[in-house]
Amino acid sequence: MESFSVSTRRRTDFVDITRQVEAAVSALGLREGVVTVFIPHTTAGITINEHADPDVMADVETALERLVPWRGDYAHAEGNAAAHVKASLLGSSVRVLVSGGRLRLGTWQGIFLCEFDGPRTRTVWVSS
Ligand code: ZN
Repeated sequence: MESFSVSTRRRTDFVDITRQVEAAVSALGLREGVVTVFIPHTTAGITINEHADPDVMADVETALERLVPWRGDYAHAEGNAAAHVKASLLGSSVRVLVSGGRLRLGTWQGIFLCEFDGPRTRTVWVSS
């Protein structure tokens, strides 16, 4: 297994980690197969979406905020319930095909670490 750290800069922050995942795939020596990208945190997630136009992830942030506002009628006493809900909505892992040692992503796709309770330093695990 490979791992790397990512420092997020805001409470909600989408960080393109495609290059780091590619580096992890190289370090694993994986040429053909499937790689799992997993985040071991409860207030952050992983998703795949467009990384050509930054407005796309800005729109995702706006829509999630509308769906799950920071302040609300939550039970969780820590005060970050919205971050937990958003993390569950997006999920804690993605699987990506690997061919010829490269990630097989669509032309416009990138892998994003989705921070919902930052800024923090997050860990990402990558394994075949
Ligand atoms: Zn919490």
